[in-house]
Amino acid sequence: MLIKDVVCPFCGCLCDDLDVEVEGDRIIRVDNACTLGSSTMVGDHRLKNPIRRNGTRWEDTTYDAAIEEAAQILLDADRPVLYGWSSTHGEAQSLGVHLAELIGGVIDSTTSVCHGPSILAIQEVGHPGCTLGQVKNRADLIIYWASNPIDAHPRHMSRYTTYATGFFVQDAQHDRKVIVVDTRRTQSADVADEFLKIKPGGDYAVLLALRAIVRGRADVVPAEVAGVSRVQLIRVAEMCKAAKFGAIFFGLGLTMTAGKNKNVRNAIELTDELNRHTKFIISPMRGHWNVYGSNEVFTWMTGYPYAIDFSRGIAFYNPGETTVIDILSRGECDACLVVASDPAAHFPRSCVEHLAKIPVIQIDPHPNATTHICRLQIPGSVAGIDAAGTAYRMDGVPIRMKSIINTGIPNDTEILQKLYNRVREARGE
Ligand code: SF4
Repeated sequence: MLIKDVVCPFCGCLCDDLDVEVEGDRIIRVDNACTLGSSTMVGDHRLKNPIRRNGTRWEDTTYDAAIEEAAQILLDADRPVLYGWSSTHGEAQSLGVHLAELIGGVIDSTTSVCHGPSILAIQEVGHPGCTLGQVKNRADLIIYWASNPIDAHPRHMSRYTTYATGFFVQDAQHDRKVIVVDTRRTQSADVADEFLKIKPGGDYAVLLALRAIVRGRADVVPAEVAGVSRVQLIRVAEMCKAAKFGAIFFGLGLTMTAGKNKNVRNAIELTDELNRHTKFIISPMRGHWNVYGSNEVFTWMTGYPYAIDFSRGIAFYNPGETTVIDILSRGECDACLVVASDPAAHFPRSCVEHLAKIPVIQIDPHPNATTHICRLQIPGSVAGIDAAGTAYRMDGVPIRMKSIINTGIPNDTEILQKLYNRVREARGE
């Protein structure tokens, strides 16, 4: 059977135009997806049932037994952390908040190790943004700053920017200019009209120089800024001012290098500066398919987008203190529930070493690096494949993801609801 307009559960582009052929409970062909999306849809490298560690061995267990053991671990903990949430649907994220509040724990998403600084900057100065549909139909100038879409978001250029025909941009390759700013030449830089190769750590200075030039103060800019010549900076500033509609997309090269949120604030202020001359927007390139959704859901429910600590009985948010890396670095956390994430593959070594010392429960369909340090792993079905759910695209547009096969595996919402109910019951509530 051919199912059309399926949403891809891999990156923040949430491409919703996949054609998928299914046979029984198997996906046998995927059209329109990139290789990352295709391998996610057809890959069968998934756990079939929950597993628990018994000494040095793994043994199979049932969902009910696994949920009972997970509930006991969380009930016994003084400082539990519920981490991950970026590769699961919004309904499960909301249950995560309820569970964190119930046990007085901390809930944090992968935002704190990717675009957390972007959110801090947006909280300071706002965010001139728009949907990807507007970019596709209107933007005649695109800037990719410290991001490499060809690798990380392979269809971003073909669906929305470089190669995408839009209502007011009929001949994309001719009518639309692309600028790439990065510390190294990437494949994305190879297809750009202009490439600014900056020295590592030079983003803040280059942004500041561009702001000065756009303000008409090229005279205060030195001949070279972080490896970029003033001549090239003036050329780029003129390209930006001459555009009818410009869009800046930035990645972790801006948020996770020296300057962090101050880099992003500077980029937003450059966007504001350009809006004195033309229309310009700026948007983060969100990585995991529903990391944006975690920020939305957490904010509706608590007022804060990530790193929310319920240990005081109310929601408290202080990135740098309540963020998962900081809690693990201080050795505070004594139990961790990981949902749809792989911290052992991405966290600093000292944090992974601490996780290896405490009970870790993982709700995730795939064996991964965190499997090696967890006590218990409970596989859930995947939204867009064998579960339905709501996710937010990187531009904040909510998209409903349908279930296209039936594997009989419970979804994350069902697993978390049972866990929540069991914890309440054990507390006599
Ligand atoms: S660009 Fe992202 S969402 Fe689109 S098909 Fe590729 S991995 Fe999936």
